[in-house]
Amino acid sequence: MSLKFCQGPDCHTYHTQDRLKGPKGNKTNQTRRRTSLYYGEFCDTRCEHAWLSKYATKAVDHFGRTTQAKHLTEENAWVKDYNYQSGWNSERDYIYVNKITQEQRPLTEEQYNDTSYTLNER
Ligand SMILES: [Zn+2]
Repeated sequence: MSLKFCQGPDCHTYHTQDRLKGPKGNKTNQTRRRTSLYYGEFCDTRCEHAWLSKYATKAVDHFGRTTQAKHLTEENAWVKDYNYQSGWNSERDYIYVNKITQEQRPLTEEQYNDTSYTLNER
């Protein structure tokens, strides 16, 4: 399993026992690494916030800035959700719910987990 490094720009500057690594007598404070990070790319919310305050403006400019108010309409009001079925082996029923019309449509688990799958107009 490969290790992921925390992307917090100042991760190595925070003093904790688990960041202290290296041979005895020559330990240094190092960027945290994990097989999986709780906050996606970051070891904790402090590192997440440090990255955001340093790079959020560049990231928004890169991926597209919101320059006018978005309006919730029937065409873009679909939200993924799920219900627990009752019973001892409760599985999830995945659904799309239109937050304006309250219409519900069934979803497969694959569609639920597919972040590019949407009924919304773009
Ligand atoms: Zn970190």
